[in-house]
Amino acid sequence: MQETFDFLTYARQVRQVAGSLMSSGRNAAEISGRMHLLAVAMERDLVRFGDSSELSRIACSPGCGACCVLNVAVLFPEAVAITWFLQRRLSGEELENLRIRLQELVRRTRWLDDEERLFLREPCAFLDKQGNCTIHVVRPLMCRAITSTDPEACRDAIAMIPLNGAPSVEMDLFQKNMVDTVYCELGKALEDLGLDHRPRRLSSAILALLADPEMVSCFVSGDTVLIH
Ligand code: SF4
Repeated sequence: MQETFDFLTYARQVRQVAGSLMSSGRNAAEISGRMHLLAVAMERDLVRFGDSSELSRIACSPGCGACCVLNVAVLFPEAVAITWFLQRRLSGEELENLRIRLQELVRRTRWLDDEERLFLREPCAFLDKQGNCTIHVVRPLMCRAITSTDPEACRDAIAMIPLNGAPSVEMDLFQKNMVDTVYCELGKALEDLGLDHRPRRLSSAILALLADPEMVSCFVSGDTVLIH
C-alpha cells in the first residue's frame, strides 16, 4: 500500500478538510477541537494506509527526548491547541513556572539558527526530567514527523551535526511524508482562508499566547499575529 500511495491526491484532500475545519473555528476551544480532529484523522490514515510492520519499527515514543533540542516550527492553530491544553491541565503556579522557563528559553535561543541551537543542546521547555514530552497528546506536527527507527542513531547524529559529520538516521518515510503533508496543507488551507499561515517557533508562540489570549481573536479576524 505504501509504495502506491498517492500523496498528491492525499494533499488535496487534506487541504480541503483542513480548510473546512479551520473556517469554522471562532475561538481557542473551537480551534483546539478542530486541530484534534485533524490529528485524529491523520492517525487513522497512518493506520489505514501505512504498513503496520514498518510503522511498528518507529522507535520515537514518550520517554525518548533525544531530538528535543531542535528548533520546532508550529502553525498558529497548533500553538492555540497546545496553549489550550496547558491552561486546562496546569495549575496557576505550574503555568507561571512554565512561562518563566519559556521566557528563558526564548531569550537564550531567539537568535540561534538550527545548528547553533543544536550545538548548545538547549532542551525544549516541554521536556521533563525523565525525557517525556509533557504535551505529547497535542505535540506539534513537526515533532510527529520525526520517525526514527533507532534512538541511538539520533543521539549520534545530533552530537555530530555541529561538527559537520552527522551520520544518516533511518526513518519511516511514509509517516514522515504523511505528517509533513498535513503540516504543509494546513498552512495552505489557512492561506486560502486569509488567515495567518506563517510558521512560528514553538516556544515563542506559546509564550505569546499565554501572555495575550486575545491573539486568537486577531487570528480569527484575519489579522497578522505578532509573535517576536
Ligand atoms: S514538543 Fe515535545 S516532542 Fe516536541 S520538541 Fe518539545 S518535548 Fe520534544
